[in-house]
This record gives sequence, structure tokens and C-alpha cells, in this order.
Amino acid sequence: MKTKTIKYCLASCAVTNKLHFSIRVLSQMRCLSKTVSVVKCSTGCSVRNYVTENDGSYFFNKMAANRKPSELREIATLVAKLPASAINLGVGYPDVNTFPFNGISFELVTGECIKLSDKELAVALQYLPSLGYNLLLNKLKEIQDYFHGPQDWNTRGILITCGAQEGLSKSVDMFMQHGDPVIVPQPAYAQALDLFRAYEPDFIRISQDANGVVVDEMQNALKTRKLNNQPMPKVMYLNPTGSNPAGNVIADSRKREIYQLACQYNIVILEDDPYYFLNFLEKNPASFLSMDTEGRVIRLDSFSKVMSSGLRLGFATGSASFIRKMELAMQNSSLHPSSLSQIMAYKLLVQWGIEGLKLHFERVKKYYRQKRDHMLRAVEQNLSGLAEWYEPTGGMFLWLKIKGLEDTRHLVTSTCLAKMVIFAPGFAFATDTKKPSPYIRISYSVASTEEIDKGIALLAEAIREELKSIKTQ
Ligand code: PMP
Repeated sequence: MKTKTIKYCLASCAVTNKLHFSIRVLSQMRCLSKTVSVVKCSTGCSVRNYVTENDGSYFFNKMAANRKPSELREIATLVAKLPASAINLGVGYPDVNTFPFNGISFELVTGECIKLSDKELAVALQYLPSLGYNLLLNKLKEIQDYFHGPQDWNTRGILITCGAQEGLSKSVDMFMQHGDPVIVPQPAYAQALDLFRAYEPDFIRISQDANGVVVDEMQNALKTRKLNNQPMPKVMYLNPTGSNPAGNVIADSRKREIYQLACQYNIVILEDDPYYFLNFLEKNPASFLSMDTEGRVIRLDSFSKVMSSGLRLGFATGSASFIRKMELAMQNSSLHPSSLSQIMAYKLLVQWGIEGLKLHFERVKKYYRQKRDHMLRAVEQNLSGLAEWYEPTGGMFLWLKIKGLEDTRHLVTSTCLAKMVIFAPGFAFATDTKKPSPYIRISYSVASTEEIDKGIALLAEAIREELKSIKTQ
């Protein structure tokens, strides 16, 4: 009877938030009651939170395994929970009364003005626990519950980071060992590849189409490696929504298949998703986090694209043991992202609530969708016959393949620059940057519609010149 209930919940796991919750509660109950038999869910994954059982140590590299709490930072976490009346002769904090700021207020696009109270100002000017500002953490949990289904915060955690990038770098540095295999999309976000590259990894490249990474290719690659007794990857990096640079969104059905593969081959998914709210779909895509019954997803969110990249705020959500190791790394690196940024984000979230936030996301989304449409029109008018592309379904980028050119390096770094127009060359998004790439990435975020028209016309001119010069060589 119990088994049946679980099966039913899992079969419907991406359907409603309520069901997500029941899955987690049930899976937790199973762990607590130490039930060993494993039920297969609709994605084929076992219903157990291996992190609760195995504490995630299979995945940690030696550095992460050795990472111990910083005693003074641990005390800082305790101190943050004490009432203000506690006499603090222990921590090495400066006295905020010596700082030159008397008050901080900021104005929102909606015209509202937010002023920090004296108490908030003191928080904004002082050190925080490494996990983040507690009130903001609670708000972020509400946000994750709302957009990705209620999470079990006993087994999951959140770490506030300096953008998604810091969450990504802390995840990579926690798992990768020199020469490890890792699954990456092709093309991929250049700064993610840079992080992995430092480990001289064995890149398992998976191609993409308009619907994201090609699952059959991933399945074949994993199957072949297993058959050949090759080392198996512990980590897969994916950038599911409005991928940089490919501009696609991984279809929900593909995500379920990928999650199934991750369960089958025991792989952690790094879900780097800073463009999640910039998707141009009818409804937000299902995240890997929303499917994660086994605690094998680290989701990296960011405020950079919807609030401000200058705030340098993001947050990593994942199983408590992973987040704890990342927190320990934070204790020894920047200590924590800016307190002022954290309190600004917190005040904004309180002021707007989820509904206000959603309205704002819709505004931002509409803005980028219009820019995308304009870019597509310009590209169709000027580049038909010269290039191939598909419609971006999120994010800020169009990934363009130039016909008849083996490599865009000279086109971008010489011919286009001479015309004072800038594009990103395809090779920058490849695992091997020395190989030729016929692609370029066009960004439609900051350029005005007039600049887009002019820039794309200049690109067409540059491509023609480039093709002509190749023919005459
Ligand atoms: N991941 C991807 C795919 C990105 O495009 C970016 C920004 N260029 C980041 C992560 C980092 O963003 P941030 O640290 O500002 O959140």
C-alpha cells in the first residue's frame, strides 16, 4: 500500500507542487524508518535520499573531504542568533559606529523608496555568517518553494553566493579531481569551461539543438564508457534556460530523461540557471531541482539578470551536505557576499512579495522577448543564405552558424572589429578553444534596436568580405 502511494506520487512528480512535497516527505519517512527496499520512480530513479544515507562523500574531492569548519566563523553563526543584549567580547568585528555611512536608502523603478532602519544599517555594514543573512535565506527558501515545489529544508540548504558564478566555482572545486571526466554541453558557458579546464578534465561533450542537449548522445556516451570500463563522470554541468551561448531551453521531457541518467550513473547535476526567469515560454520550465528526489542537483540561481549584476548576488540550493561543504569553502574565501547587497535584496523581496517579484520578472521577460524578436527580424533580413540559426527561447543570445566559413576567428576579431561591431567568436565556447568554429554568439541585451539593425547589416557585409577573401586566397 505504502509502495503504491509512492509510485503514484513519483509518476506525477512534475505535475503539482503538492505532489512534490508528498514525494519528499515520503522519501524522508523511508530514510527515517531505515527502509531498505528501493522503489523505481517514473524516471527510473530510486526513492532514497542518498545524501542523508551517504552524506555525499562519494562525490567530494580530497580538498572538500578535508575541509573543516572555521571555528571563529562557526561562532559568528551562533552570535548572529543571539539577542542584541548579549555582551560581545569575542568576535573580531569592527565597530560600525566608526564607519562613514549615516543612512542608506534606495529608490525602486516602481517609485517606492526603501530606507534601512538603524538596525538594518548596522547589519548592512557588518560581517554576516558565511551561509548568508538569515532573513534573506528564509525569503529565498520561500522563493524556491514557490517556483520549484516545496522543498524539505531539513535535507536541503541554501548558500548565498557572489552570483551564480561563485556557486558554480565552489561546486566544481568541491567535486573535481585532476583528470576527472565531466559532462558538458557543446557549446557551453565559457567561464564554466574555464573552471573545469583547471582540472585538465576528460570533457564528455554533448551536442545541442533547439530543445537543449541531445539526450541520446548523453545516454550513448555513458553506456559506452561503462562498457569500456572507462572512469565514469561524477558531475554534469548544464545551463538549462536560455543557455549561454546556445539560447535554447532544455525541454522538460529531456530534463526528466537526463535526471534518470544521472540517477542511473550516479552523477550530480550542476544546474546553472541564471536566465531561468528570462525564458520566452508560456510557463516557466520545470527545473532539475523540482525533479530531484535523490538530492543530486545543485541549483545555481542569480539575481544578476533580473535585479542587478552589480549586487553580485546568487544562491546555491542543494542537499544539506553539499551546501555545508560549500559554506565551509566560503568561510575560507570571501567569508560571504556583500552584507549591503544581501540586505538590499531582502528589503526588496519583503517590499514586493512573490507577486510583485513575478510582475517584475514579466516586465524583464517582455523587454528581452521584444529585443529577441527585433534581432530575429534583422537577422532574417540580412543574413538569409549567409547563416543558420534557431529561435532563442530564453536568455540574451543568438547562436549563429556562418555558412561557408570554417572558422569565425578572423571574421570576429579582425573584419568586424574594423567595422566597429563586436560579436563573441564561437571558439570561446568550445572545450578546445584552438579548434576552428564556424559559430558566433550575438547578444541582443544591451544594444538598442537601431544598433541591432546597423550591427547585423555590418555583419552581413563582413561575412561577404570574409568569404570573398577566402575564395581569392
Ligand atoms: N552562468 C551563466 C550561464 C552565465 O551566463 C553567467 C553570466 N554571464 C553566470 C553563470 C554568472 O552570473 P552571475 O555570477 O553574475 O550570477
